[in-house]
Amino acid sequence: KLSAHPSGRHFLQIPGPTNVPDRVLRAMDYPTIDHRGPEFGELGRSVLAGMKKIFKTDSHVVIYPASGTGAWEAALVNTLSGNDLVLMAETGHFATLWKKMAESLGLRVEFMPGDWRRAADPEAVEARLRKDAGHEIKAVCIVHNETATGVTSDIRAVREAIDRAGHPALLLVDTISSLGSIDYRHDEWGVDVTVSGSQKGLMLPPGLSFNAVSAKALAASEKSTLRCSYWDWHAMIASNATGYFPYTPATNLLYGLHEAITMLLDEGLETVFARHDRHAEATRRAVRAWGLEILCADPARYSSSLTAVLMPEGHGADAFRKVVLDRFNMSLGQGLTKVKDKVFRIGHLGDINDLTLCGTLSGVEMGLGLAGVPHNAGGVAAAMAYLAENSAVRSR
Ligand code: PLP
Repeated sequence: KLSAHPSGRHFLQIPGPTNVPDRVLRAMDYPTIDHRGPEFGELGRSVLAGMKKIFKTDSHVVIYPASGTGAWEAALVNTLSGNDLVLMAETGHFATLWKKMAESLGLRVEFMPGDWRRAADPEAVEARLRKDAGHEIKAVCIVHNETATGVTSDIRAVREAIDRAGHPALLLVDTISSLGSIDYRHDEWGVDVTVSGSQKGLMLPPGLSFNAVSAKALAASEKSTLRCSYWDWHAMIASNATGYFPYTPATNLLYGLHEAITMLLDEGLETVFARHDRHAEATRRAVRAWGLEILCADPARYSSSLTAVLMPEGHGADAFRKVVLDRFNMSLGQGLTKVKDKVFRIGHLGDINDLTLCGTLSGVEMGLGLAGVPHNAGGVAAAMAYLAENSAVRSR
């Protein structure tokens, strides 16, 4: 039986929200200030400039007090008009939700089918755009890292596909579970709107979401006729010029964002990405040693922020996850919709180090045994061997 206060920390190993580092928690533990006062302007300017570095853009970044879903909606309603056709790729649960949102806003969606084990196909995007001689398609929308499946799409390749087709469609990309974890370059990859959220690679609680907006997207917003008010970029960008917001911002989350940006830039974005790649590889070695199957069917497109693991036939993922939660106080990600009860997801993004990962994988391995899931021992050992071989001396 669980005691009211289990000792030690809960292991929040879902692929977001992620563990919030103590430094970020402390940074938020301050009195809320006047959001129209001088101190706030400085904070606003600093986080907006910092987020440009994280998105790798010189263009505008907009911050909403909203979950990621709000930023999805903002990307669509600012740039598109009723009945516009958009091209989306069925990479998994989140791509499907974004598609449903687009339809509910009155857009027409062509959904390139997928089996939830592979990335968006740049060649299929190119072929479809080449057929669209009349430029009826107004936007291509791709989820960079499909959180439901652990598959990362190649955004640079999608950009190149659009360019090869010579098509003017906007490129809209969801980086909710990749920003601050997996290499991402808004400007260099010619993305028009990047959508993101606070609760994953940025190591914050849920509650903030973002749009990075290219000049082309901003120009499109002048002509877009979908209704928007709360999400309107123009009022935001006008206030943001001096570091303020058109409505009450989530002040304390912005304190946390300021700290998280400092941490990410101090570590160095490239080091952060390499750390995620390494932890993802260690996790996959553990999964293979257990004799279980990784949901992502294309090794070139493995996600560095999470790994989705297929359960052996006849064994439910949710019963296994319950054992892990009850016995070891660790949350693993559940399978969503099409893969419900068929997969569990190990989140290895955000504020993680080698020992956090080893603890996580130990909980999985012990849980597999207790839940009676057929597997081989030695997953944790395989991950440990890889981590030890590839460990760097920590500078102090
Ligand atoms: N897109 C992706 C890739 C996600 O992982 C999520 C949430 O997990 C969302 C969109 C929706 O974001 P939110 O739940 O913050 O509204």
